[in-house]
Amino acid sequence: MPEVNTPQRTINKHIARGNQALQAGDRDTAVAEFLLALDDPNFGTRLIASNRLMDLCPEEVYGTSTDLYHRLTCPAKNIAYNGNYFLFRNWSDAESAGRRPCGQCKPRPTTSRRS
Ligand SMILES: [Zn+2]
Repeated sequence: MPEVNTPQRTINKHIARGNQALQAGDRDTAVAEFLLALDDPNFGTRLIASNRLMDLCPEEVYGTSTDLYHRLTCPAKNIAYNGNYFLFRNWSDAESAGRRPCGQCKPRPTTSRRS
């Protein structure tokens, strides 16, 4: 019997693995899987992955094809679903890459100061 292949799974394999990792308490693996799911061509899958990441990584920010970067919870986040965007570990990494903070979600902590 050949193995049955079902390419049109409703749940992306990375989402499924991420959920399993979460249940097992393995946060790092879950984050890695949800990040991979952000590349899925399916809108619903990307939305699930983005929501999971918002819960898991409130520090994480993303940049789009503009030179701005945003919180995952940015009210203007619909721009993230246009296609190309890049995740950064935190605001500092984003600024190192030449990005400016979004005016709406203000992803840069105001408590930071130079020493
Ligand atoms: Zn924003």
